[in-house]
Amino acid sequence: MPPAKILVVEDNADNLALVKFLLERNGYNVFTAGNGLEALRVARENHPDLLLLDLAIPELDGWATARALKADPATADIPIIALTAYTMPGDQQRALEAGCQGFIPKPINVVSFIREIADLLGEKAKNP
Ligand code: MN
Repeated sequence: MPPAKILVVEDNADNLALVKFLLERNGYNVFTAGNGLEALRVARENHPDLLLLDLAIPELDGWATARALKADPATADIPIIALTAYTMPGDQQRALEAGCQGFIPKPINVVSFIREIADLLGEKAKNP
């Protein structure tokens, strides 16, 4: 089975580098985008198995990006997980309404992150 494709949408270079490093080290095929419009383009081109979405991104914010992904038949079935420092209940509700199906709070926990990703992809974690 080919490695799962994960699109990471994040405008902070340090956060993006960390997430990309952790995912690639665990064998995932990682695509990246630094803003909402780029995220839409990369998602259409590569149809990732999972999309990690920073909500505070330029061009098109994360909520609008999620809505656009869900409105496009080419990308509607891609699971979207908000990767966000917005952890107030209202923020989560807005993200769910926009089409996100879960959250990973930032700063990410480097110990549990890969397990969470594996669970989201329905795989067995490599180190249970
Ligand atoms: Mn951001």
